[in-house]
Formats: sequence, C-alpha cells, structure tokens
Amino acid sequence: MKLCTTYDPKSAFSLRDAVLRGLAPDGSLFVPKSLDPLPKHFFDRLPSLSLPEISIAICNHLFPSLSNKVIEEIITQSITFPAPVVQLTESLSVLELFHGPTLAFKDFGARFMAQLMSYYNRAESQKLIILVATSGDTGGAVASGFHKVPGIEVVILFPKNKVSAIQQKQLTTLGHNIQALEINGTFDDCQLLVKEAFQDHPLSDRLRLTSANSINIARLIPQSFYYFEGYRQLSTLTNSVCFSVPSGNFGNLTAGLIAKRIGLPVLQFIAATNVNDVVPQYLKSSRYHPRSSIPTLSNAMDVGNPSNFDRMLHLYGSTWNDIRKDIQGYSFDDQQTIDAIREVYQKYSYLLDPHGAVGYLASQEFSRENDASVIFLETAHPSKFLETVNKATGKEWDLHPTLQKLSDKQETYTSLEKDFSGLRSFLLDSFL
Ligand SMILES: *Cc1c(COP(=O)(O)O)cnc(C)c1O
Repeated sequence: MKLCTTYDPKSAFSLRDAVLRGLAPDGSLFVPKSLDPLPKHFFDRLPSLSLPEISIAICNHLFPSLSNKVIEEIITQSITFPAPVVQLTESLSVLELFHGPTLAFKDFGARFMAQLMSYYNRAESQKLIILVATSGDTGGAVASGFHKVPGIEVVILFPKNKVSAIQQKQLTTLGHNIQALEINGTFDDCQLLVKEAFQDHPLSDRLRLTSANSINIARLIPQSFYYFEGYRQLSTLTNSVCFSVPSGNFGNLTAGLIAKRIGLPVLQFIAATNVNDVVPQYLKSSRYHPRSSIPTLSNAMDVGNPSNFDRMLHLYGSTWNDIRKDIQGYSFDDQQTIDAIREVYQKYSYLLDPHGAVGYLASQEFSRENDASVIFLETAHPSKFLETVNKATGKEWDLHPTLQKLSDKQETYTSLEKDFSGLRSFLLDSFL
C-alpha cells in the first residue's frame, strides 16, 4: 500500500515511512493512496474465518510489501482477543471491543502498531524510543501494546494528579521497557515536552525518537478488521448492516469507511457523539466549526476538533453530499447517556459503558426512520466507568478482575518538572 498525505494526494510514501514517522512531513495525515475491494473468494470464505484469519487476509490485500509470514507473525502477536457480537433484538446488536488487556478498543490499534514498528526496527542496531504524552486512556493501551516488544523502549509522560488512579496504575506497573514520567504540569505541558524533544536536534539525532499517537496510520488499519468480524457474525441473518460508532477523534469511524472501501457491505454509518458534536453538525449543515471540547461522562470522546476529519474528507474528495449519504450523525448529552445505560440494563439485562450508550442512542434514533439491522460498537468495558454505571442502574457493580489485579501492583515512575532540561537529561541518562 502506498500512502499520500491529506494535503497532497500526489505525494507517495511507503508504509514503513508512514508508520515510523506518524505525522506526515507536511504536517498533515497519511492516508492510503487507493483502496481496492477484497477479492470475491475472501467473501465466499468469510463466514468460516476467525478474527485473526480475517485480519491476515486484509493485511495480505493491503500490504503486498509484507510477506504472508511476517503478517501472520504480526497478527498472531497483536489480535489476541475476540470481538463478539451480542444480539439484543432481531435487528439490534452490540459489537464488544473491550476484551483486550486494557479493556478498550484502543488495544487493537496499539498492539498492531507496536508489532509493525518492531518489525520495521528489526534490522536497526539502535533501539527505537517511543515518546507519548497521555491524558489517560491512550497511555495505558500504548504501554500495554508495547510491553516487552523487542527493540523498543517506551517513555510515557502523564500530568501529576490529573489521571485517574486506575489509569496511573496502567502506566506505572508494567516495568521492563515501559518507563513512566510524572510531570508537574498539565496534559498540554506533557505534549509540549514531547514536541520539544523531537525538535531538539542534538537529542533527536543521537536517539531514535518517534511518537505513537493516535494519528499513526498503523493504529487505524487494524480497526477495520473488526467491522468484518461484526458483519461475519450476523451474515447468516442479513446481507448488509449499519454500524453505529461512538466517536471522538473519528479514528474508529474512519476505519469503518476503509472497511467499506475494501468491500464490506455497509448500508450506513452512524456517527454517534456526545455534546462535542462538530461532525454531526457538519453532516447537517456542510459547515465545519471546530471548537474547544466540553467535558462529559463519555470523556474519551471529548474532542472539539477531531484529528481524523481530514482523512474522512479525503476519502470522499471533500464532497459533502457523498459523505452524508454514507454517514448520519446524532449527538446526546450526559442525562440521555445515563438514561440509556439504565434503559438497556432494564430491557435487556445488558450493561453499557457511557461511550457504548451514546452508540446505542444513535442506533435508536436512526431506527426510528430506517428499517435496517444495526450493530453499535461498545468501545470500553463498563467497569472502567463504575461510578456512572452504578448511578445509572442503582446497583454496586464489581470491578473487572483485570482492574482489581492492578490495584495490588507496585508503581514505579520518575517525577520531573515541566521544563525541558529535566526530560532531556532523563532521556540521555537512560538511553545513551
Ligand atoms: C478513544 C475512544 C473513543 C473514541 O474513538 P475515536 O476513534 O477517537 O473516535 C470511544 N470510546 C472509547 C472508550 C475510547 O477510548
């Protein structure tokens, strides 16, 4: 697969280049130059394929530069947990994406990216150092995804007293090649420090530094696999589906658009947001007005200027009419989110997290006007949002065993001030 940038469709980059760079040199995002449909025999075989087999077939199709053996290795190491569909009614199902090690769908992208980066770094004698700033969830998925991956060191910067206790444990208890830095500052300070490290040329010339943020194309591609897996599980019942996708930065939804481009029969995508609704507003009015984000209960979707919006535009040649044919948008507030968690629990004895609840709400809104089978994505395990789900259902839910185990683990991290000299010395002392 050749890639170009969203600014310049004529540019051309290799997959290796795009994965190791993250951000394109012109400051925009990498996108596939073209996407061809999967061959018919793939769809003939699809009902009997497993999720890893689906993933391998898609990678073989998209990445002719990688051998089948390499692809098999990468998938075997990364796609290690299932994505089951749970049917709530004849026409409404949930695709559960929270069975990975950090209980959120970001595990798919982070683990795949880690394996692909490790592969591309294999021939290098020097270790690759990944610098990430986190405000919470991303750091956990990245730390877990890269844990013990050969040839790679990870340094995670988190703001002091500004991530939840569980999130902090997910960053600070892994050890091995994962180091956590507590920064006496905000998330923005952490991001600034990472930027400064890349721009400090004596430093970035001596160390092989890269980032692992959410715009890396290697995080997007594996998120297309589970759309096929969701469809496969319903394919005896229906021959086309709609997906309702709880969205923030719109990586998940963009991966769905890629799945459709390579042949998945998706009737409609439903963009489900909380009150941070710049994309639903765009779909209604054709005007895009990015703004600061508003905090909500579905906090992983509190995004005021989604980074994947340019990729979505690119896929449709920036034609609003074509985009809104494929995607309908709906937004919901916190009270509706709480009410939805309660409603789904009472009606179906099924517990949603606040993000999945927004996906559910959008599927209901859509179904009022459309007669189609809808799958909504459940992006995190409800146990990650105990306070909200307890409040919504009036019950005391147990913490998931994975999260329970974390609480006994010993934390190790280094505390630094927010000025760059501290980070600089830390990196040189640790890696030179
Ligand atoms: C990141 C995240 C989202 C939003 O996904 P995007 O790809 O940014 O749209 C939704 N739910 C959860 C639980 C998340 O962590």
